[in-house]
Formats: sequence, C-alpha cells, structure tokens
Amino acid sequence: MVKSTIPKYYIKQGVTIAKWHDWRWQLANNINTAEQLGAVANLPKSESKKLMALFAKLAEPGLDAVRLTPFLVSLIDWKNPTDPIRLQHIPSEAEFKPDRYALSKVWEQPKDFADGANRFIQQKYPDIILLRLASTCNAFCRFCFEKERTLRNSVRTAIGPIQFKKALETISAQKSVRQILISGGDPMIIPDQLLFHYLGEIIKIPHVSTIRLNTRALLHNPFRIDKKFVNTLAKIQADSWNIKGRERGVSIEIGVHFNHLNELSPEALNAIRSLRRAGIGVYNQTVLLKNINDNTEILTDLFRALRQENVRLHYLSHAMPVPGTAHLRTSVATGQKIMRELRQKKEFRGQLPHFETSHFTGKQIVPENFNDDFKLVKTKHGLEIHFLSDITGKIEIQPDVE
Ligand code: SF4
Repeated sequence: MVKSTIPKYYIKQGVTIAKWHDWRWQLANNINTAEQLGAVANLPKSESKKLMALFAKLAEPGLDAVRLTPFLVSLIDWKNPTDPIRLQHIPSEAEFKPDRYALSKVWEQPKDFADGANRFIQQKYPDIILLRLASTCNAFCRFCFEKERTLRNSVRTAIGPIQFKKALETISAQKSVRQILISGGDPMIIPDQLLFHYLGEIIKIPHVSTIRLNTRALLHNPFRIDKKFVNTLAKIQADSWNIKGRERGVSIEIGVHFNHLNELSPEALNAIRSLRRAGIGVYNQTVLLKNINDNTEILTDLFRALRQENVRLHYLSHAMPVPGTAHLRTSVATGQKIMRELRQKKEFRGQLPHFETSHFTGKQIVPENFNDDFKLVKTKHGLEIHFLSDITGKIEIQPDVE
C-alpha cells in the first residue's frame, strides 16, 4: 500500500491537512506544467528540463494535455522510473511515435448519439444508455480512450439543462433501458448539488433499475467521496424505493478503476469502505497495460485486495487502440494467458472479471483461447483481431499488438 504524505512544497506554502483533504482544493491546485510538477515532486534539474521539453511539445493544439492532482503526484515514487502510477499519468516521448491507431475508430461513433453533435447521450445496447455529463477529469490518464473529450478537450465541456432534459426524455421514451451508465469524463468532477439533481431526476424514471457512476476519483482525488457525498448518495438510493409508480428502487453503483495495487492508498480504501458501509455497490474495472500490470502476480495482488474490500471485479479491459498509446498496449494473447492463469487460482473461482475488448461497435468478451470466431490475423497493416461481434453479428476488426 502506498501512503501519501503532503509534499514538502505544499507544507512550505502553509497547506494544512484540512486543505489537503478538501477535494475542491485538490482540483483548484491541479498541476499542468512541467515547472509545477518539478517543484512539487522535487525533481532533479535534469529531469525537470526533460519534462519541460516534453510538455512544450504537448502544448501543440490537438495533442494530449497533462492534468494531475497534488494527491496523485504524492503517490508516485519519483526514484522509480517504472512506478506504475507514473507510467499511467506522466507523458513520455513514446507518445509521439507514429502508430496505426485513429481516435475515430475507438469508441464514439456519431450514430450512437441520440443528441447528435452534442454527444451527451450515447447508446450501443438496447438496455443501457451512457450519459456523458462531464468532459474532464480530476487527472488525465495517458491511455484514455475518451481523450478526444478529456485530454484533448475538443468536445464541449459539460451538459446543460436543455441537453439533460433531452436525455431524460430519451430514457423515458425507451422502456427497454434498465441501466444508466454515467461515464467519461469523470462524473465526480460535477459539484454535489448538480450531480444529486441529475441522479434525483433519473431515479424517477420507472424502468431504470441501476445507475452506474464510473470514476477514477478514488485514485486521483479520493477526498471527493466525503461524508456528505456518501450520505446523499445513500439517501437518493433509499428514496428511489418510495417513488410513486416505481415497483422497486434503483441500485446506485460506483465503478472504480484501479490498475495496480499501488493505487489503493489508505484514502482510496477509506472511500471504498464508506461507500460499502452506506450500502452503495462498488465494482472495479482494470485496463491491461504493458509494463504496468500485464502480469498474473500483479493482477492477483490487486484483485485479491479488491475482493477483501468487497469490491466486485467487473472487467479486465484490453487497452484500446488509442493514438499515442502503443507503448502502453499489450497483446490480447497476453490477456488471455493471464486470464487462464488467474482461473487456475482457486481463490478467484466464480469471481474473476470478464476480459473484454472495447470496440466502436461495443464491448466483446475475449475467449480464453483463440477460436474460429475470435482469431488473430496477420495482415499488411499488422496484427489484427478478427471477431464475430455479439452486437453486430458481423466480423469486426481491431488492431492488436505485434
Ligand atoms: S479518469 Fe477515465 S475518462 Fe478520465 S482520463 Fe482517466 S481514463 Fe480517461
């Protein structure tokens, strides 16, 4: 377990524990320049200089911005160049290497959006509507498949009242919709009052049975999960059972995203425990990342710790083919091997996450071995996965790693 301590830089500035524990202070003091990062992390001059050159390149329009919370920076072991949190959040020269990936082929397809160019209401499956209420995050992950919306910030910033009304109408009109997934950017960036207003409106729709909030706040800014937040969430969940016209209540679940045991700070564990104590379900999604967690023992440690906290293991995701992330992607065959090895460990029987690959047509569960419906094909473009999609019923293609 990695412990965070307030960096000396902030102590010298008179930052108190109360401020450090305030999620709004963490947000307001976001780090996005190499100069700030060098000072907070107390980096040697040579390293700061390298980062300055890198950040200057990233300042070009259309490239991927850096955003870090002071808390996140405090979790990194700066003496370790392969620190897993560092590799996920600090940019590297490898991001500039040309690759064959295109953002347009990642996840967001114009036809999936019920509100056209506004792009807040996305639907790939008849029973799930994905609401994108925010377009930024507490901190940015370099591998983010939403980077057009987050790191590149080229899509509008946050949903407004008119678009939210349209979202409610779309959900109400579709009786097949059971789940509302609120995801990327990070919904925890939204102020309490507004977020609770959105949730309070969604629970009034009788056919909605589950609301899932996907967040990386427990890693980036765990103070977000404060007492008021947890109590209000639990109240909204309880109130949903008493709404006229509803047969049953709504389950509100928090989808956390941990990729390595080092991310389970005491503050993150406190947040998980307070959610669980309040009766809020917590599930985890892990992205398989090269040199970070593409190893059975690393994932065993993470999954075991999460199970000990009663966190459901939801997905292990093959990293998406996102531009600038080739150095972080590992092959689908590596994921299959890890899944086979995890299955052999009796402690995970019946509790393993699904290994999935996200494609712009939807998520596809990866079998533990290649077969006729899920195979690796060598083409002139490089290695590709060809699979019979559960969603389209057709063969779909995704670039894989050589
Ligand atoms: S928190 Fe999630 S949506 Fe935000 S940058 Fe990280 S992966 Fe992307």
